[in-house]
Amino acid sequence: MKKTLVVGTGNPGKLREMQAYLSDSGWKLTPKPPDLDVNETGTTFAENACLKAVEVAKYTSQWAIADDSGLWVDSLNGAPGVYSARYGNTDEERIGRLLRELANTENRRAKFICAIAVANPQGEIIFQSEGSCEGEILYEVRGEGGFGYDPIFYVPEKKLTFAQMSPELKKSISHRGHALRKIIPQLLGVD
Ligand code: IMP
Repeated sequence: MKKTLVVGTGNPGKLREMQAYLSDSGWKLTPKPPDLDVNETGTTFAENACLKAVEVAKYTSQWAIADDSGLWVDSLNGAPGVYSARYGNTDEERIGRLLRELANTENRRAKFICAIAVANPQGEIIFQSEGSCEGEILYEVRGEGGFGYDPIFYVPEKKLTFAQMSPELKKSISHRGHALRKIIPQLLGVD
């Protein structure tokens, strides 16, 4: 029988991707209890991922995995960064704010970063990894898929935004795909 890994996110887009990306990990991923909310008080993606994994593991007494991720925009000195989720109340607001702040800035270089942390049922961090994906911020939205900032994040090598990619293509090149691939061998080793 598959072991249970509780996912420390309330974001359905992230949960969907984590379940798909870890389908061969030997674990069954389930969402965290909705009443548990962890304050993201860390200053780095890794710190926040650890905070969430530890709290969820302690609360549920089960293995837990958490991701903290966001968008680093070069000409905004790394904003929205760890505040990516708090940049507005909806995806539309967050995208609108980012496009307004960038306005006609020519340097549109950006990267998505994802930190992953896995905690055991005692609330100890056992594995951590990080992944990133470089791209550019468009001047307007393009594509219907994905979630979050996907419609404005363009990957020049693929000539597509994340929102225009198939789930398989996004998995193969995304920050979350890279970070989770590094964790799979370690998850397979837990008995
Ligand atoms: P947090 O990790 O829960 O703090 O939230 C991360 C924020 O970054 C959310 O607002 C997401 O919309 C955004 N984000 C993280 N990963 C992705 C992605 O793969 N595509 C688009 N937006 C993302």
